[in-house]
Amino acid sequence: MKQPSTEQNIYEIERLKKEKNAIILAHYYQTGDIQDIADFVGDSLALSQKASSNSADIILFAGVKFMAETAKILSPEKKVLLPDLNAGCSLADSCKAEDFSKFLKENPGRTVISYVNTTAEIKALSDIICTSSNAVQIVESLPPDEKIIFAPDRNLGNYILNKTGRDMIIWNGTCHVHEEFSLEAIIKLKKENPEAKIIVHPECELPVRLVADFIGSTSALLQYTKKDKSNCYIVATEAGIIHQMKKENPDKTYIPAPPRDSTCGCSECNFMKLITLDKILKCLKYEEPEIIVPGEILINARKPIIRMMEISEKLGL
Ligand code: SF4
Repeated sequence: MKQPSTEQNIYEIERLKKEKNAIILAHYYQTGDIQDIADFVGDSLALSQKASSNSADIILFAGVKFMAETAKILSPEKKVLLPDLNAGCSLADSCKAEDFSKFLKENPGRTVISYVNTTAEIKALSDIICTSSNAVQIVESLPPDEKIIFAPDRNLGNYILNKTGRDMIIWNGTCHVHEEFSLEAIIKLKKENPEAKIIVHPECELPVRLVADFIGSTSALLQYTKKDKSNCYIVATEAGIIHQMKKENPDKTYIPAPPRDSTCGCSECNFMKLITLDKILKCLKYEEPEIIVPGEILINARKPIIRMMEISEKLGL
């Protein structure tokens, strides 16, 4: 049977969105075609804000499971769809609720700050959620002597620790994309392109952060390339963001930082890339797979997310 063309798929997605009062929220790490059909494209903080302030009946999340769960927690009355339930996250997987509960019991009396890249169960065990856009400010908003547990990303945790000097215990989790960038390959690229600026996500390892001209969240990196005067960037985060960078400044050059294993394609998140236009169409049509977050977990996970949003709003983030 003849497969529908991309144009036909896009037409049908648009039609179904109107018919069902649905919106598509897409993360910057999605492929360019998906970013282009989304109603809103952003990083985790902006997507959380959007998920809690829209009048749609259905949110289709083009991203990974923890993001769709966050949307459901913030908008429990809406139907939240994720086109492929296998779109997980190696970082969220590195922090299991059972192990984390034990860790919290072993380290009592600390405020628990968890990165948004966690399961709903981990959020339910936390006091405040943060994203890479607001993590430093969230930590700094607490009294200086407050003792903190930060989970799950050890690289982001160490970055925050270096910036704030706070008393922090850090969970030992990592993201398989950001952990894999090769310092040697980045230095080689810099030698070949001496005018290029190295821009790095704080989930990257310390040696890569140390050679950075700029460190920031995905949206901060995008803003930087928009305003900065340079014409060439070596980009050490998931390569999907380059689509938006090119849209903003098509004349500039963006070189994805290579992973240690040049055959693995690890500068792309294989979980993010499970989402396709075909799957989005099918998901909108049949309204499944749907994200369900059990009642008590939803109530307990909502509090630390709301706390993050209130602090972010107060700080104008
Ligand atoms: S890039 Fe890393 S942190 Fe982001 S969804 Fe993929 S595995 Fe998770």
